[in-house]
Formats: sequence, C-alpha cells, structure tokens
Amino acid sequence: MNYHNYYPVDVVNGPGTRCTLFVAGCVHQCRGCYNQSTLNPDSGHHFTQALADKIISDLTDPRIKRRGLSLSGGDPLHPSNVDEILALVQRVRAEAPGKDIWLWSGYTLAELNPTQRQVIELVDVMVDGKFDQELKDLSLKWRGSSNQVVHQLRKSA
Ligand code: SF4
Repeated sequence: MNYHNYYPVDVVNGPGTRCTLFVAGCVHQCRGCYNQSTLNPDSGHHFTQALADKIISDLTDPRIKRRGLSLSGGDPLHPSNVDEILALVQRVRAEAPGKDIWLWSGYTLAELNPTQRQVIELVDVMVDGKFDQELKDLSLKWRGSSNQVVHQLRKSA
C-alpha cells in the first residue's frame, strides 16, 4: 500500500481531534474528484510498519487526546490497499481501545467484496459512494455530494 499524507493531529476530516491517513489508489474516476493526485496506487510513499506503529502510538498518546482515526484517499478499500487497511484497523481495535474509525470510500456498502466487508465490520462510520458533481452540496457534513451516505455502523462513534 502507498499513502500520500498522514496527519497526526487533524480536526477537519471527521469529528473531534483525529489522526488521518490519505492512501494512494482509486478506481472510481469521479468527475471533479477533490484529490486526483492520489488516484494512482503507485503514487506517494510506501506505507511502512514504522508508520503503522506511529499511528497506534499517536492514537494512544495521552498528551494530545485523539478521538480516533480517519482513513481516506484515494480509496482505502482499493484492491492495493484493503489487506493493509484490514491489518491496521485490526491493530487499532486491539491496541487503541475506545478510539473510533471513520472510512471514506468510492464503493457503496452494497458493492463490497468479502475482504472489504471485513474492514467495514471493524469501522465505526463509513462514508460511501462516488462523488457526483451534479449532486455536489457544500452544506453537507462529511460528504461532498448528496448521493453519498454517512453510515453509522457502531454505537461507539
Ligand atoms: S472516490 Fe474519491 S478519490 Fe476516488 S475518484 Fe471519486 S472523489 Fe476521487
């Protein structure tokens, strides 16, 4: 998996103070994509074990309390990413209890394959669906167009 940016303290992508990872790779090719530089799965930097360790360490750092982890891109459920994202969310559940996980994907919940579903079973909130420029609405919270849905999947979010 490759990624473009990791923000250890972020107050924009999801509720509260968070850690946010923007991965590389997306197949959806939405017109008006907000993050076109991330679409090639080979772009950006290699996601390392050291960065995964840092994310866990940041999430559990008592000096700056984070509410959780946001996973965006690109698409965290892209075939190049889904195995490492699954390993990461499993680690967050095991090593950073009480932290929520938000995930943005161009796939809809109904379209997910079994591996992608394994990820979503560990996620608190999934914001799903492609960005549709015709349905763009700046007043929407956490999504860019009205076809996208904020699915609250766990009570803890
Ligand atoms: S799903 Fe998101 S990252 Fe992928 S093309 Fe659409 S807007 Fe861009």
